[in-house]
Amino acid sequence: MNPLAALLLLVGLGLSPAAPAADRRPNVLFLFSDDHAPSAIGAFDERFAALDPTPRLDAFAREGMLFRRSFCTNSICGPSRAVILTGKHSHVNGFRKNGDRFDGSQPTFPKLLRAAGYRTALIGKWHLGSDPEGFDHWDVLPGQGDYYNPVLVTAAGRRRVEGYCTDVVADLALDWIEARQDDDAPFLMMCQFKAPHRNWMPALRHLDLWDDVDVPLPETLFDDHADDASPARAQEMEVGRHLNLVYDLFLEPDDAWDPNAGTALDASGFRNLGTMTSAQRATWDAAFADENAAFRAAALEGEALVRWKCRRYLKNYLRTVRGLDEAIGRILDRLDALGLADDTIVVYSSDQGFFLGDHGWYDKRWMYEESLAMPLIVRWPGVTPPGSTCDALVQNLDHAPTLLDAAGVDVPADMQGRSLVPLLRGETPPDWRDAIYYRYFGHPDVHDVALHYGVRTQTHKLIRFPATDEWELFDLVADPDERTNLFGRAGTAPLAAALAQRLGELRESYGDE
Ligand code: CA
Repeated sequence: MNPLAALLLLVGLGLSPAAPAADRRPNVLFLFSDDHAPSAIGAFDERFAALDPTPRLDAFAREGMLFRRSFCTNSICGPSRAVILTGKHSHVNGFRKNGDRFDGSQPTFPKLLRAAGYRTALIGKWHLGSDPEGFDHWDVLPGQGDYYNPVLVTAAGRRRVEGYCTDVVADLALDWIEARQDDDAPFLMMCQFKAPHRNWMPALRHLDLWDDVDVPLPETLFDDHADDASPARAQEMEVGRHLNLVYDLFLEPDDAWDPNAGTALDASGFRNLGTMTSAQRATWDAAFADENAAFRAAALEGEALVRWKCRRYLKNYLRTVRGLDEAIGRILDRLDALGLADDTIVVYSSDQGFFLGDHGWYDKRWMYEESLAMPLIVRWPGVTPPGSTCDALVQNLDHAPTLLDAAGVDVPADMQGRSLVPLLRGETPPDWRDAIYYRYFGHPDVHDVALHYGVRTQTHKLIRFPATDEWELFDLVADPDERTNLFGRAGTAPLAAALAQRLGELRESYGDE
């Protein structure tokens, strides 16, 4: 039978022919975490090399392309997720700050892939208020979710699953992928982890990891922000003043502890201790007992206390990262074993960066580099040169157009991002963007970060704080830690004016008045 006759026969039988491998639309495996700073990934930064937190992600980066200038548009969980789904800035997709409710009726890239014949699934953290739309299957954590024995929600209802959240989410994602084995349609799997979000609860198997390793503290831990605009001194995200010994660092409450004292409190981890099984709780308590007793006996004060708090915070954060790294390694191994790796684009990213004691802080929200940056690694066999890096300015705004473009689906004209596909092929278009636009909407809100917006180019950053009529200007080449605010200094007026003009142009082009 000639090929055309065979095709007609299949069509006549109501069967769709399996496309030749070279023409198959790729599967998309979107691996996503929460608050994972690039500086906590070995492939991006040597800072924690002594602890080697991410061996699997580092190996994954050697197989794909690592984006060194990947940024969010609005450094906070829900908004970043909404930007990724829609390819539109927060003021356009309507989800400006945590607590907003995502309008699921608007076009999103999973909906468009599904309409084009993709099977679509979402597992893990969602955090957008409304029920997910555009997915054949979804199974999500309510709100922030719990680290231990998490509740998961499907269209059919809620249930509690015993285990460590990162492992549970990976297992559920793998179950769905394996069930696709006899399905010829390509798939989109969005596997979205809670880790390494506050309150940084590691897996039981990692509680003793790095006990004898000295975690390096950032050089800017005792930044006094004397040179910054005033909002940097008014925030509530300091390791010293705001990180809570009981809620965040898991000391036993003592007689002096007031559960309601302080600001920027997050008791979710403390509550989650109460929903552990008795065996889990016993292992947890035993792991911290000696170190906690030694801490109480030492009665640290001042900078010594801040250093201790930062070390405890960083070790637990990095332990949750190691759990994430293991889960990702397990998923990638299974993709290989199922023979799917060559047909699957794998993306790793996180909703924003995070302060790991940098500038004295934990949390995110600011346009400063540590929270503006998002990790981004993409492996697309046959397309991304293995072990390559890209220095073009990219944003979470670009994920939707990229994945649609990669699947051969038309990108809606009103999406505001741009497809990264040329970059993934190793080619930077000559008209690629020269600047990114950022805007943070979350005030008043926890951590008391002022409203601000700004522009970042390859070399400079200008930030505007409208409430206090202040500006900040940084030279990112000479001053990558953003210690010296050049705004108002002699000789910088022409540069500030040029950046302010570029900022105005970006605001106009994105329709943000
Ligand atoms: Ca986040």
